[in-house]
Amino acid sequence: MERIETLASWIQESSRIVFFGGAGTSTESGIPDFRSAAGLYQSEQDSPYPPEVMLSHHFFVEHPEVFYDFYRSKMIHEHAKPNACHNVLANLEKQGKLQAIITQNIDGLHQKAGSSNVLELHGSIHRNYCMGCSLYYGLEAIITSEDIVPRCLSCGNVIKPDVVLYEESLDSQILYGSMDAISSADLLIIGGTSLTVQPAAQLVSYFQGSRTVLLNAEPTPYDDQADLLISDRIGEVMDKVNKLL
Ligand code: NAD
Repeated sequence: MERIETLASWIQESSRIVFFGGAGTSTESGIPDFRSAAGLYQSEQDSPYPPEVMLSHHFFVEHPEVFYDFYRSKMIHEHAKPNACHNVLANLEKQGKLQAIITQNIDGLHQKAGSSNVLELHGSIHRNYCMGCSLYYGLEAIITSEDIVPRCLSCGNVIKPDVVLYEESLDSQILYGSMDAISSADLLIIGGTSLTVQPAAQLVSYFQGSRTVLLNAEPTPYDDQADLLISDRIGEVMDKVNKLL
């Protein structure tokens, strides 16, 4: 409880909070992460391809049917609802205390909770583009497509989700925006991420303040750099923190 009280008091004393998160922020909304015991790496152990391969650019190009089969069933959770972590962060933004959320997630749950300044390092399931003519499609087009591989209604080319696949580079504007936000923050809360996916994880080194909070259920390679380490479920912790604010 002492650590939760410290986090609440640091939030009260801060005015430029940045949250940097990953798949662990959405597990309490029912979306599995990758590397936990209940994550996709374990559940897909018997699959002929590991998730990292199925979510790579070359795999998308060479096996679009297998990609879309995996992507639709494992990466799209259209009925998932924001949990306490998403909701508390959205409220902090409304109060003018939180300046940005930087997420590795593609689920759009921060926006669903009401956050507006969300930097999506790995894109979003909610945006999709034709690979031929760049025509935009929402999530609905992917879910309701009668073909396994959705095709453009205008030119017939394959539609690709606007998510950053392995072998693809990050959007430089989002990356620079994230560096800016982190380097001007007075409190950095890192949560629900194994901090193993690069270059996203290196972003935390841009923080110049003295209050880094690491809130993750399992150990990460950055644990000894945290000023406050909370090893627990992020939604439950943020709910408790919120009651102290
Ligand atoms: P990861 O699976 O590597 O790590 C998740 C971390 O969160 C783990 O260390 C786990 O212990 C922790 N965790 C799980 N549930 C938690 C909880 N309730 N509270 C606190 N901690 C919790 O995920 P990552 O670091 O984000 O990297 C995986 C990549 O896969 C991401 O880049 C992302 O793009 C993609 N991905 C996205 C989603 C999504 O959009 N929801 C889901 C799965 C994977």
